[in-house]
Amino acid sequence: MNDTDIKNLRIAVIGGGFGGAAATVFLNRLGADVHLYEQAKDIKEVGAGIGMRPKTLEVFRKWGILEEMNAVSSASEFFEILDGYGTPVVRETWPKMDEFDFDARTRMIHRGDFIDTFIRNVPTERFHLGHKMTEIDDHGDSATVTFANGESTTVDLVIGADGIRSKVRSQLFGDYQPVFAGAHAHRVIVDGADTHGMLTDDNLRMYVGANGTLIYFLPLRHRGPNGQLSFDITCNSDDDSWAPTLTREILAEAVEGFDDRLQAITAELDLELVNSRGVYDIDQVETWHSDSVVLIGDAAHAMLHHQGQGANQTIQDSSELADCLVEFDTIPEALAAYTQRRKPDTQALQAISRQNWPTIEDLSTAFPEKGNIA
Ligand SMILES: Cc1cc2nc3c(=O)[nH]c(=O)nc-3n(C[C@H](O)[C@H](O)[C@H](O)COP(=O)(O)OP(=O)(O)OC[C@H]3O[C@@H](n4cnc5c(N)ncnc54)[C@H](O)[C@@H]3O)c2cc1C
Repeated sequence: MNDTDIKNLRIAVIGGGFGGAAATVFLNRLGADVHLYEQAKDIKEVGAGIGMRPKTLEVFRKWGILEEMNAVSSASEFFEILDGYGTPVVRETWPKMDEFDFDARTRMIHRGDFIDTFIRNVPTERFHLGHKMTEIDDHGDSATVTFANGESTTVDLVIGADGIRSKVRSQLFGDYQPVFAGAHAHRVIVDGADTHGMLTDDNLRMYVGANGTLIYFLPLRHRGPNGQLSFDITCNSDDDSWAPTLTREILAEAVEGFDDRLQAITAELDLELVNSRGVYDIDQVETWHSDSVVLIGDAAHAMLHHQGQGANQTIQDSSELADCLVEFDTIPEALAAYTQRRKPDTQALQAISRQNWPTIEDLSTAFPEKGNIA
C-alpha cells in the first residue's frame, strides 16, 4: 500500500500488552489511523524481567526505539543452565547476537520499563483505556468491535492482541481453551542487596532442581541503587488455578535441595510482592486472520515461557504485520503474507516449549529452538 492508502487505513488494536502496544507504535509511525483499546483502567505489567533477543532489538532499531529500550536495560552475553546446587551444565552465547551491525546482545529489561517505553511512543489520543471488547462482527471488508461501555467502532482492520484468552480469537477463529502445563510460576523483583552475593553480572541463569523446579535468575543491575534481580520459581503443581494461592511452605518445598543462597533468597521474599500464576499455553491455532481481522502475540500462539520467547515473538509479529501492510496492495494479501511468514517460527516455538526442559543429565543446549526457527 502506498502512503495515502496507509494514511486512510482505520485500525483498531484490541489489547494493550506488549503486542498491542508495539503494533500501535509501529502503525502510528507509518501514519495509519490506529487506535488501541485496552480493557484495564491503566496499563501495568507484572513485576518481572524479560530478555529482549537480538531479532527483537533489530525490530526496535528499525522502528527508532532501540536507544530508548537500551536506556532501561542491560546487555547480556550468555544464557547459562546450572543444576540446583549451582554447578554449570551448559553456557551458550545468545543466538544471532553477532548477526547485526549494531550491539545486538540480548538485553535484560523489567516488563514495566518495557511497556512504559512503548506507551510513551503512542500519542495519548490513540489510547483508549477501560474499553473491554465484548463483540466483534466481521463484515468482510471491515469489522465492528463493541465494548462493554457501550461504545463501538467500525474499521478496515482489527488486530486481536488480546492475549491467551483472546475474545477476538474465540468469536471468529475457534475455541482454543488455555492448556494447563502442570506448573506454577512465582515471579518477583528482589533488591540486589537481598541476593546473598549472587548478583554478579548481567547474564541470565536457570537453575534446574532434581525435583523439577526451575529458577530463572534474570539480573536487572541497571535498576535501583543496589541493582535488582528478577526471580522466577517455576515448579510443578496439579492445581490448575489461574492465580494460585502461595504460601511459604509451597515456596520452601519448591526450592528444597537448591543452593543455600537460593533457598535463603526464597525464604526472605515478601509474599505480598510475588506474582503467582498457573502456567498455560494454547494448541496451535489454524486460522489467524480473515480479510479484516488478524491475531498477533499470545492470541495467535501463546507458548510456555521455557524458551523466553513469547513477548519477543509478539513484538516480531507486530513489526512483520506493519511491513506486510506496506508491501502488499490489499489488506487480505497483507494478512495472508503476515500469517505465512510468522506461523512457522511461532508454532515451532510453541511445540518446543511444550516439550519442557530435559533432565539435567540429558541437557545438551541452552537453545533447543536453534536451527528450528529463522
Ligand atoms: C511466567 C512467564 C514468564 C515469561 N517470560 C518470558 C520471557 O522471559 N521472555 C518472553 O519473551 N516472554 C515471556 N513470557 C511470555 C510473555 O509474557 C507473553 O508472550 C506476552 O506478554 C504476550 O503479549 P501479548 O501482548 O500478546 O498479550 P498480553 O500481554 O496477555 O496482553 C493482552 C492484553 O489484552 C487485554 N485484553 C484482553 N481481553 C481484552 C478485551 N476483551 N478487550 C480489551 N482488552 C483486552 C489484556 O488486559 C492485556 O492487556 C512469559 C510468560 C509467563 C507467563
